[in-house]
Amino acid sequence: MEYPTIEQLHKKLTAGEMAVTTLVDEYVARAKASDLNAFREIFSDVDIAAQVATAQMMFKEGTATILTGMPIALKDNILFAGHIVSGSSKMLEHYTASYDATVVEKLKAAGAVLIGRTNMDEFAMGSSTENSAYGVTKNPHDTSKVPGGSSGGSAAAVAAGLCVAAFGSDTGGSIRQPAAFCGIVGLLPTYGSVSRHGLMALGSSLDVIGPMTHSVADAEIFYNTFKGADKYDGTSVAQNVTIPLKKKIAMPKNMFAAGGVDPEIKKNFEDMVEKLKTQGFTVDEIDLPHFADSLAAYYILMPAEVSSNLARLDGIRYGDRAKSISIHDVYGDTRGALFGIETRRRILLGTYVLSHGYYDAYYNKAVALRSIIRKEFETALEQYDAILTPTTPTPAFGIGEKVHDPVSMYLSDLFTVPANITQHPAISIPSGKSTSGLPFGVQFIGARFAEDTLFSLGKIVEDIR
Ligand code: GLN
Repeated sequence: MEYPTIEQLHKKLTAGEMAVTTLVDEYVARAKASDLNAFREIFSDVDIAAQVATAQMMFKEGTATILTGMPIALKDNILFAGHIVSGSSKMLEHYTASYDATVVEKLKAAGAVLIGRTNMDEFAMGSSTENSAYGVTKNPHDTSKVPGGSSGGSAAAVAAGLCVAAFGSDTGGSIRQPAAFCGIVGLLPTYGSVSRHGLMALGSSLDVIGPMTHSVADAEIFYNTFKGADKYDGTSVAQNVTIPLKKKIAMPKNMFAAGGVDPEIKKNFEDMVEKLKTQGFTVDEIDLPHFADSLAAYYILMPAEVSSNLARLDGIRYGDRAKSISIHDVYGDTRGALFGIETRRRILLGTYVLSHGYYDAYYNKAVALRSIIRKEFETALEQYDAILTPTTPTPAFGIGEKVHDPVSMYLSDLFTVPANITQHPAISIPSGKSTSGLPFGVQFIGARFAEDTLFSLGKIVEDIR
């Protein structure tokens, strides 16, 4: 099913062909009727009606923006004042946000209508949404398959027309991988280009909020409304690099050497390379010797940062508390009972790699490796518009297929993790479907702050796929 884009809907609203209420009602009705478990919560009718009234007023007063009246979904880790935000964890089941994330503030100012919060892997750890404490989300293309993760709820909601666009967050692929699995566009913006204020911290040197949309143009519109420097996030900057297209694309040599890449994905990718060549692109295989090592670095650095970020969820400062006899037990009982298994696994891993005696052997090595990979990317991106890969090694896998095998789950991040490690932007664009009807995606990784290049390349792929 094809759903309209932001641009198409905006035209209808400005021409007066459709009222904001009608538009929002249509999406909310579909969201309520859906059995995909994409939403953790659809906001109350009163809440949505108030936002619709604001949007209508903006049209009346001539202050409407292109996002005014658009039904948008929030991932369940982005703070919206007065609303529950749980990270899809039992730990924060009753936590109500006391302030708006900067991206939420910007969306409100643009007159968008926030209709609900979407299901996700607990605290954004996972690649399938199966780590949510509230059940898996189903892939709209085949409900026996996962939607990807951790922003699986957002991806399914966009793909099934339950919202026009959704926020995701990407620490190692959580926007791009579910976007690829659900056949939509997902952008990981350059680290620092979007404020993280009000995003539940996971891996603070890796986390970025980004758009999940039907089209590349929509991703561009949506991203442009919430990017920018913010006094509440010291790592945020307002920067935009415009580089004329060289029509030169790089592919990492030996990308498929390790195996594990689905033959249909490989074929789809190779076909895309051929199509790009017919558009006048040069596509070179280049040496990126440490590309595949990104995953190893990620699964040291990311758990290390997680173990420290989630330390605040201790039953005392935030979240729910287990009934315990002593203060010592409060910590263990609360964290043992209210964190899921993957969250506990990452905290233990992270604590271990940061502990005295292992810090140099693991954490510091991963930090060193990270700067080597970043250097390799920077050198390559001086000569090329982007690095091209499939977004994922396989199409959407079955629900339950990988839950008991964390390493095989981690391998689904093979192509997405490098951009987070190097803090480069990357976009996933739908590139076709498997014989069984499951979507494929291709990914471009671009130079830092050169999102515009990714949008140009993405639009070309939309034309030729
Ligand atoms: N799948 C990756 C992980 O489990 C990525 C998560 C993310 O990007 N939030 O860590």
